[in-house]
Formats: sequence, structure tokens, C-alpha cells
Amino acid sequence: MRLVTFDIAGKVSYGALLGDGIVDLGARLGKKYADVKALIAADALDEAAAALKGAKADVALAAVTLLPPLPNPDKILCVGVNYDEHRKETGRDKSEKPVIFTRFADTQVGHGQALVRPRSSERFDYEGELAIVIGRPGRHIPESTALAHIAGYSCYNDGSVRDWQRHTHQFTPGKNFPASGGFGPALVTADEVPDPFALTLITRLNGQEVQKAGTDLMIFDLKQLIAYISGFTKLNPGDVIITGTPGGVGDKRNPPLYMKPGDVAEVEISGVGLLRNPVIAE
Ligand code: ZN
Repeated sequence: MRLVTFDIAGKVSYGALLGDGIVDLGARLGKKYADVKALIAADALDEAAAALKGAKADVALAAVTLLPPLPNPDKILCVGVNYDEHRKETGRDKSEKPVIFTRFADTQVGHGQALVRPRSSERFDYEGELAIVIGRPGRHIPESTALAHIAGYSCYNDGSVRDWQRHTHQFTPGKNFPASGGFGPALVTADEVPDPFALTLITRLNGQEVQKAGTDLMIFDLKQLIAYISGFTKLNPGDVIITGTPGGVGDKRNPPLYMKPGDVAEVEISGVGLLRNPVIAE
């Protein structure tokens, strides 16, 4: 299933993509499961799949505004410098442990919604990333069973305000500007992504390819990330982990290449989807 959260005429619901439309699961299951997070927390993806059997699309994709597929995670954990090419371009030393920072849920936008370049900076940079959404909760999760805790995958643009990211050694300000994180278009359930270690991630700015890497190149793979993160915090259904960006970020180009109003940024991951966001000024 490709689960989406959408707004139609001011009413928010959730559903599954079917062709160029959406089957409204909120209309069918909303009394039991208020949103995608509740559906995942109740381990009810099979029930959602059963509700789709023989269903036709209720609304056209063109008639809705897509929101982040999981708009209300309790936690968004971000992984820094998790591809060697990006580590080298940022001049950082190798680390024995993953770099983890956080993003607030209210910084996110869905597919098609605008990313906002803040008025306080012109250094608004793209970071194409694979996002994973936690299904089964857990603490001290071993690597051997880590993948069983993933409900699904999505594309993410971890839009980063570089000067604010580097005011100090803490990333938080530069990673938390309003409407700086693109997430979507859909949450693709794990059964549709048989090998998450063999995906190709491409970022484009105005159609020009600026990042390309395989998820096999992560320094800390999905199992290691889940094991490490669950070692310090309990992972709950709906928590999002964005797994780091490959080389090619705009800030390290010569000349630098930042996202500016009028631009269109895309993050495409094979088998997962294509996230597209226009960029506007605050
Ligand atoms: Zn990032």
C-alpha cells in the first residue's frame, strides 16, 4: 500500500493511492483509526489492505492537497553524515557512532506543498534522504530483528539552513525552520520494498540531477540505526527516521547551489516514489 494523508476542502483524511486517485480509508476505518499513525499503532495494515479489495478511488489526486504521509510523528530522528561522499565533502572525521539530531513535526510539508526559504538566510540547501517509519515499538532492538520494526518507507528532503546549522556544533536550528522538510508523497508499506538496501536515491533541483547514490552506501545501515537509536530512546509507532543524505549538497559546490524562490526540488527513490516541492520565499 501507498498510504497518504490529504486535505480536501479543509477536511483531513487518509487513504491509499490507486491509479491517479485515492481510496479514502479515513471514510471506511476512521472511527476505529483516526489517522495513519493510529492505523500503524493498532497493527491494522492488513485491515486497511482488506478494505481496499475491490474498492475504487473516491477522490482524484488532483483534487486534494497531500500532507506529509505521517503528519504527526512523536519523534523525527535525523541521521547526519551517513554517506562517505557527504562526510568527505563536509570535512568531517569518521565517527564510530551515527550522528543523530532531531526535527520537529511542524517543520514538515507534503508532496506538492512549498518549501519556504527563510528571510534570515539565503543558504537553504536540499538533502535527499530515505525516510523510514516505525511500526512495531521497541527499546534495545537488536540488529537481527530491526527490519521487522519498519512499517514503511518514504522520500524526504531534509531542507537545511546551512548558516544556522553551523552557528555552533548543534544542528538543531538549521534543521527546524518552518516548512523546510519535504516528506512524501506516500508511506510505502514495507511489503512493497523487498530490499531497502538496494534502492537508488536521486535529488534534482530544477530538473538537474544533484545527488545520486544507492542506499547500500550508507555508513550505518537501517539495522544499525534502529539498534543504536532504540538504545537511547523507545521507538514508537509512527516515529520517523531520516537516514542521511549522499554527497552533492549545494553548500559544498563551487559555486554553491542553494534552493531559491521559484525553484522545484525533487527527491526520487526507486520503488518508493518521487517527492516534488516548489520553493517560495518566507
Ligand atoms: Zn539530512
